[in-house]
Amino acid sequence: MKRKHQNAKTVHHIIPRSRVAGRPLSATCKVPEQIHNLSHALHGNRTPEEIIEWYNETLWGGQYEIIMIRK
Ligand SMILES: [Zn+2]
Repeated sequence: MKRKHQNAKTVHHIIPRSRVAGRPLSATCKVPEQIHNLSHALHGNRTPEEIIEWYNETLWGGQYEIIMIRK
């Protein structure tokens, strides 16, 4: 059986559902399935702020002070 096209769009919760218990669900966006799977494999249920901080500490040597403001 042929695998579903990996560029098929899937719904991603920007703040993981597991992190918003008891609060309204966060915004979603549509992302290609392959990118979506890779992101969750790498970041699990981290929030956007935690993902950026992970990059800063893991790959950028903590050399950035990051201010992140949601639009
Ligand atoms: Zn997702």
